[in-house]
Amino acid sequence: MKLSDDLIVIINSEFNHFSQFNNSITHQFIYFCTMYLTDTHTHLYLDEFNSDRAETVKRAIEQDTRSMLLPNIDSSSIDNMLKLCEQFPDNCFPMMGLHPTSVKENYKEELDLVELWLEKQKFYAIGEIGIDLYWDKTFLKEQQVALVRQIELAKKYQLPIVLHMRDSFNEIYSIVKDHISDELTGVFHCFTGNPEQAHKITDMNFLLGIGGVVTFKNSGLDEVVKEIDLKHIVLETDSPFLAPVPFRGKRNESAYIKLIAKKIAEIKNTTIEEIASITTENANRLFKFIIT
Ligand SMILES: [Zn+2]
Repeated sequence: MKLSDDLIVIINSEFNHFSQFNNSITHQFIYFCTMYLTDTHTHLYLDEFNSDRAETVKRAIEQDTRSMLLPNIDSSSIDNMLKLCEQFPDNCFPMMGLHPTSVKENYKEELDLVELWLEKQKFYAIGEIGIDLYWDKTFLKEQQVALVRQIELAKKYQLPIVLHMRDSFNEIYSIVKDHISDELTGVFHCFTGNPEQAHKITDMNFLLGIGGVVTFKNSGLDEVVKEIDLKHIVLETDSPFLAPVPFRGKRNESAYIKLIAKKIAEIKNTTIEEIASITTENANRLFKFIIT
């Protein structure tokens, strides 16, 4: 198993942390040898998990998905998202932002609330934000204004942005390009575009969030993954949506990150451990995780 330097630092700090509380060498050794996967985009606070939310998180951890990043949607999702992060402070990490499909007449008040929350407590990204022209084009102008304002918030709070893009590559690309700076970075979540778009994104120092779609037959995403260096990729489930094969069409959950990592390992002709190590390292760098 090849371990990256960053991961070794993380494991060592966890190892030290453990040794203060647990003298069992065996326990420490098992921990040292296990995989560390990160789900960079999961909505485990939604109603779909009302009956088994805690079990779902525990299942993910058992399947080596130890970090889960929760993107916000709008004012109605904040409480449940933060509650889950409080319940699992070592595994669930919140983002703050207004989702493009929630940009309606009241979007200015929604954005004021986003800003209020950013002043109040720590978040790991501004997300999810972006432009969605698949469901409704009525509020395109407002979606563009909301995206710009939230990019400015990302700069102010020195946070990465997590972008939702649906039928809107050109619209998002031109806004991000206009605001590009050394500090601005982020991830194009659930990337399903072509290699040319993927290169445009990585050229801006942004990452690609690869999810369950990569396991779908004829998605064409394997061609993109083949071409793009692993240092530009993070893994995500987008739970409860877009479950990977063999669970396609069913409820998705963060434990399935392993299926996505396995598929990428096949495409890249490497091991799942290597995929876990590199993509977790990328996520730690992007979301500035400091493991103590
Ligand atoms: Zn999402």
